[in-house]
Amino acid sequence: MSSRVALITRLSKAAEDNWLTVLSAAMPRETIRPIHALSTEELDRVDIAIVANPDPVDLGRLPNLKWVHSLWAGVERLVLELKGFSHPIVRLIDPDLARTMAEAVLAWTLYLSRDMPAYGLQQRQGLWQQLPYRSAPDTRVGLLGLGALGRAAAQQLQLAGFAVSGWSRTEKKVEGVTTYFGPGGLEAMLKASDIVVCLLPLTAETTALLGTREFELLPANAGFINFGRGRIIKTLDLVAALDTGALKHAVLDVFENEPLDGKSSLWGHRGVTVLPHISAPTNPSTAAQIVADRIVQYRADGLLPDGIDFNRGY
Ligand code: NAP
Repeated sequence: MSSRVALITRLSKAAEDNWLTVLSAAMPRETIRPIHALSTEELDRVDIAIVANPDPVDLGRLPNLKWVHSLWAGVERLVLELKGFSHPIVRLIDPDLARTMAEAVLAWTLYLSRDMPAYGLQQRQGLWQQLPYRSAPDTRVGLLGLGALGRAAAQQLQLAGFAVSGWSRTEKKVEGVTTYFGPGGLEAMLKASDIVVCLLPLTAETTALLGTREFELLPANAGFINFGRGRIIKTLDLVAALDTGALKHAVLDVFENEPLDGKSSLWGHRGVTVLPHISAPTNPSTAAQIVADRIVQYRADGLLPDGIDFNRGY
């Protein structure tokens, strides 16, 4: 059978080999080959590319390419590097990833709402002191982003009893969630959120969205969790907000540059919990199945899938 699916990555050889194995197992009827292993004749036969941090030059080597499936949920790197790309790019939307993220949102929301950073500090100081308890229903959690991940997180937080609100670009209705939208809705939601969780994509509009002004809108003793992208916040403003007490604690899983520089002051800041981008890792076996299902559907109906919107940026 001819090669019709190319795998294009800038991952380590071991990581690429692992993806090749799980993808091939998920779609045994397809011949999937890394692009660097294809002859010129085989490149001509490729109509679908599966990508993870692809080199744009490689995508340009496929004259009969019809569409692309990314193995990642976030697309900002593709949007940046593939400006003007004319074929649909489908991003990963995996319910298993959404479940993992919702679990992380609940875990770290509880970490903040049950004062774990403060009790950790007290233990190191040998201090026996009970802090005031605030129940989940009395804790307002505001989600920035009500997409695949934000909606799953909202559901999980509601099950745990939190009062949940959410902010999106366009108007949304989500059962049991107080919703806000557009630039005007941001201020209202921040004012009414004891804990803010960022689950936004990085776009032109969301870059440096949160700075001193936004952190100062939060109620006293607010917590902040960033599971979206590092560049959505102005890091210096965040540190200043923690130092002035405008913000009580921040859990950061994503940073402007990753891995976080060993010299960054964030590592040692008592108001910051640093995580190494672990809130929702891609699960190769569920992701491979989702890509496989989409390719099987295309082989059956020949209809091009909807891709990400380059103008919108996600
Ligand atoms: P999604 O389904 O595309 O949802 C994005 C949400 O953000 C939507 O609700 C969208 O509003 C909203 N939004 C976008 N631009 C906005 C703006 N300018 N103002 C207000 N709201 C805006 O994305 P997703 O699957 O939930 O993923 C979100 C992000 O999570 C990804 O882009 C990625 O960066 C990040 N992520 C992180 C990890 C990790 O391990 N830390 C893992 C996976 C993903 P509308 O509903 O109106 O479109």
